[in-house]
Amino acid sequence: MGFASYIDTSVQFQGAEKIIHEVEIYIGILIGAVTFSGSLIAFGKLNGKIGGKPLLLPARHWLNLVALLVVIWFGRVFLNAHGPGAGMTALVVMTVIALLFGVHMVMAIGGADMPVVVSMLNSYSGWAAAATGFMLNNDLLIVTGALVGSSGAILSYIMCTAMNRNFISVIAGGFGSGAPKKADGGAAAAEPQGEAVPISAVETAELLREAKSVIIVPGYGMAVAQAQHTVNEITQTLRAKGVEVRFAIHPVAGRMPGHMNVLLAEAKVPYDIVMEMDEINEDFPDTDVAMVIGANDIVNPSALEDPDSPIAGMPVLEVWKAKTSIVMKRSMASGYAGVDNPLFYKENNRMLFGDAKKMLDEGLAALKG
Ligand code: NDP
Repeated sequence: MGFASYIDTSVQFQGAEKIIHEVEIYIGILIGAVTFSGSLIAFGKLNGKIGGKPLLLPARHWLNLVALLVVIWFGRVFLNAHGPGAGMTALVVMTVIALLFGVHMVMAIGGADMPVVVSMLNSYSGWAAAATGFMLNNDLLIVTGALVGSSGAILSYIMCTAMNRNFISVIAGGFGSGAPKKADGGAAAAEPQGEAVPISAVETAELLREAKSVIIVPGYGMAVAQAQHTVNEITQTLRAKGVEVRFAIHPVAGRMPGHMNVLLAEAKVPYDIVMEMDEINEDFPDTDVAMVIGANDIVNPSALEDPDSPIAGMPVLEVWKAKTSIVMKRSMASGYAGVDNPLFYKENNRMLFGDAKKMLDEGLAALKG
């Protein structure tokens, strides 16, 4: 759109108007290009085609600074170019640098911090749309772009707060890169202690039936298995038997902001039993069963217990404090951040291995039978 507006000679601007129009084109293309290439890398990271580990080039901050200075320099060249199309070279060079910058910026961000990047790119796309609105003199684009841009920026900030991260440090990249160190200074990751104890769907149903209070923690695996409707049926069945059932939602559960809330609302789980992390985290010690459905990073105790963990400092749902925790997943594999989970080896934890939908269907049948 920016290039089209620059090439278009049907509307001629003069003096200050021309400068303002060209600044709008330059900024619009700059933000748009960063957003575009950054979003492609984020897409690759989210669906696993690109590894979650941050790529940290040597002197990356200097590279970014040089890129910024070159972009400013070519901006000057672009604005000083006279005649139709004279600034095209500067525009193309800036676009290439912006595309590379978008790739570099998102590649440098660790797996656990991707939620912030997703909402930040969303915000950038809004600002790019607003800049295009100014360029085309389109009020609707300006207003909607500014709304998306500012709401995305606020969401990024809220997510950073929820994950106990500093916004600037996340954008600068590098979180999630450190290999966990042993206390003796060795480089190997801390080996989880103990043994993972498996449990069957029928045994899970028995535990649920006997419980007075149950907290369900949904994660990305529930979305993959599309198990939300069975989860709702189990909830209704347990509530009919007098069991108190509530849901604990971590701010970055799943793969997009509000992912779990949307799925539970779609399955018609009542809103009043769906709690935010801060509202429910203290209740785990008084809970009989914490049932984790396809979640991993958001219930990883190493975030609190291991200062060398790549997710150290991120608040998590403390399911291990319940009388019994049950983790439903297909294998012992790590979650999105690629970090081992010591929860699996805790004494009061049981592993229900299998696809979440299949396991829940079996559990529901046992509960009803
Ligand atoms: P995780 O990715 O940590 O864990 C999900 C688990 O689900 C996996 O370990 C997997 O184990 C299991 N799983 C996958 N498919 C199935 C299935 N069919 N049935 C049962 N289990 C299944 O997800 P969480 O929700 O715990 O955490 C979210 C992560 O995603 C965080 O690291 C967050 O930072 C990141 N993220 C979040 C975004 C957001 O906006 N919410 C955006 C980008 C990233 P197994 O393979 O063994 O089955």
